[in-house]
Amino acid sequence: MADELVGGRYKLVVRLGVGGMSEVWAADDVELDRRVALKLLGRDADPARFEREAQAVAALAHPNICRLFDYGEAEGRPFMVLEYLGGGTLEDRLIPGEPYPDEETERIAGEIAAGLAHAHARGLVHRDLKPANVLFDDEGVTKIADFGIARLSGSGTLTETGTLLGTAAYISPEQAQGLPATTASDVYSFGVILYRMLAGRLPFEAESPIELARLHIQERPSPLGEVRRDAPPALAAVAEASLAKDPDARPVDGAALVDALSTGKPPPADAPTIVAGPEPTLVIPRGRRSDRGRRPVWLLPLLVGVLLLGAAAAGVGVALLVGRSHHSTPTPSSVARKPPRSNPTTAPITSAPTARTSTAASTRRTTSARTTVTPPPTPTPPPTPPPPTLPPPPTSLPTTVTIPGTTPPPPPPPPPPSP
Ligand code: AMP
Repeated sequence: MADELVGGRYKLVVRLGVGGMSEVWAADDVELDRRVALKLLGRDADPARFEREAQAVAALAHPNICRLFDYGEAEGRPFMVLEYLGGGTLEDRLIPGEPYPDEETERIAGEIAAGLAHAHARGLVHRDLKPANVLFDDEGVTKIADFGIARLSGSGTLTETGTLLGTAAYISPEQAQGLPATTASDVYSFGVILYRMLAGRLPFEAESPIELARLHIQERPSPLGEVRRDAPPALAAVAEASLAKDPDARPVDGAALVDALSTGKPPPADAPTIVAGPEPTLVIPRGRRSDRGRRPVWLLPLLVGVLLLGAAAAGVGVALLVGRSHHSTPTPSSVARKPPRSNPTTAPITSAPTARTSTAASTRRTTSARTTVTPPPTPTPPPTPPPPTLPPPPTSLPTTVTIPGTTPPPPPPPPPPSP
């Protein structure tokens, strides 16, 4: 196919990457005389999913989202023609152990947030936001790419059995538990990216993807002020707010992130939002989120532990995320000020091999370490629950553990009758 014109007008030039689902080529559009990126469906991949990805991207038009120019089929293989982004990925730019320059971090974070705001306003959740999916054009403008597992509100999930659901290092606690992804799930992944750019390391690192998922579900990251004393406080505050375990406690979506980044402080968490739940996605106005403020946040780890234990007994495990993903290049991670060594834990939870022409990311050696968990001080601490006993890591994946909503506490007793 490389010697022919794909779809009658695209000349393949060089292959940029290949995976189970698709391969990406730099190509020339001979009609418009411009460079494009051509994403060709893999021979074993699911055309329906590929088409849904194309539809998802086609619904978007924003300077911070990779544009879709064309969609077609060649020799029975569907293809997408995308804006060519010659500036590489954010993953390529992050150096293990080194914070990214703060000014650039602020700019890139703002551009990612703006792209997310556009997608979220159209009911689209990315669900796999990570530095490898953040690309740059030749002018350095940030573009969110790869809506491969994105979901349009109101449609069925784009993720079928056996397909990757997010990447362990960037996955939100709710996705790690098999719960539906919402705009706030993208905000969490954004928080992981921002934390990594500010700190020079991920908020959580572990030896296995399962352990990594558990950390996202249960543990608090080290405060950025401890990891890096001179981190810009406003950016650090947005990163930490985005990393809240409870989706309701995060900035609600990309627009809220844009606000938080421009005002320098995270907005209150009770803004209108698209909430997690069975489809179709619901939009609940401010003030009607009946469980907010009544669900003790400290109960979450206990519930997770108890439910995971129960789930393990029933032969199921943490919901994760296996299969035919084309994102199998290990994601570099880092620990500040330590000599690098390889870290398997930030690899996507999948085993399919990927060949990439961009070698910077794939050859980088990295360091892994557990994050010390330091809960922030609380004025009136609730009673500390006993640490949850976790089940052994599941041996087969994936299966979903669903954490049901917590039951609100009983109403207070009626006041004594007045004399
Ligand atoms: P993916 O399969 O989406 O992870 O992409 C495989 C390779 O193609 C990666 O190195 C990406 O950086 C690169 N790539 C993906 N989309 C584009 C694009 N629109 N322009 C240039 N390179 C891209």
